Amino acid sequence: MQFKPLEGRKYPRFSAIKTFFRLPEAKPTQNFDVALFGVPFDGGASYRVGQRFGPQGVRELSSLGRGYHWEKSINIFEKLKIADVGDAPTVPIDLKQTYARVEAFVLDLLKNKKKFIACGGDHSITLPILRAFHKKHKKPLALIHFDAHFDTYPPAWDCEYHHGTFARHAVIEGLVDPKKMVQIGIRGPFAVKEDAEFCKKQGIKVFSVDDVRQQGISKIISQLPKFGTTPTYVSFDVDCLDPAFAPGTGTPVIGGLTSYEVQMLLRALPKLNLVGADVVEIIPQYDPTQITQLLAVDVMFELLAQFARR
Ligand code: MN
Ligand code: MN
Repeated sequence: MQFKPLEGRKYPRFSAIKTFFRLPEAKPTQNFDVALFGVPFDGGASYRVGQRFGPQGVRELSSLGRGYHWEKSINIFEKLKIADVGDAPTVPIDLKQTYARVEAFVLDLLKNKKKFIACGGDHSITLPILRAFHKKHKKPLALIHFDAHFDTYPPAWDCEYHHGTFARHAVIEGLVDPKKMVQIGIRGPFAVKEDAEFCKKQGIKVFSVDDVRQQGISKIISQLPKFGTTPTYVSFDVDCLDPAFAPGTGTPVIGGLTSYEVQMLLRALPKLNLVGADVVEIIPQYDPTQITQLLAVDVMFELLAQFARR
């Protein structure tokens, strides 16, 4: 199989069955480099729901995805064989069962030596993905986490697992190394003062939107940590953007990053040993102009360009 997208100049972009970037569907056992998959689940969402429709919305908009990265002078589809491996199995009314199924799905990809980008789903789906890495490699990952929120929050309604706790569990379970963890796009208000303490105690590096505004984007870029050969995961919550740029999300917070700042940050990431990534918290029904879904497509493109650099 060629693992090339359908060409827009031969087959109109509004035609054909929707896969990510109009790529072929494949099984994890087939011979390709990077798997794209959906995790249609919103059982961890605390406010708005509809993240379960994120993958199908992003697949639809990814018909507009192109392959040539002008700034990096690479064509991702020439450098990499990329395929859509479908959706991870989920159970809409059961978070624990969903976690077990997503973890098994990702473990299968890892056993088949695939890099991947997952498209959520609410942010609770990152935890089983990180657990799968730990099962396979037994070592903590470095984590680059884009978000308005720390996601290190306490249980809610006596439930340990929801979309605001994945980062805390990832640290406590030893899935990620807090000394090799960075959060970008964080801003208030918080529910209580203590919400900011976990990251401080763990020594997690935080770049708030205030930092970006006050120091300027190039200063922030110059401070981005270099994780070298450490296997690194990128988790991208679209609410790191201002809701003016990404309205289609579950818990919007005003005063966020712009689309262009996000592009600059993603393009400027130092050379990484990127092993996997996700883009989460997209809700198509709150996205009347589809701008958030288009943003998610671009984030996936920038992450694919990271894979292509290696
Ligand atoms: Mn989040
Ligand atoms: Mn968030």
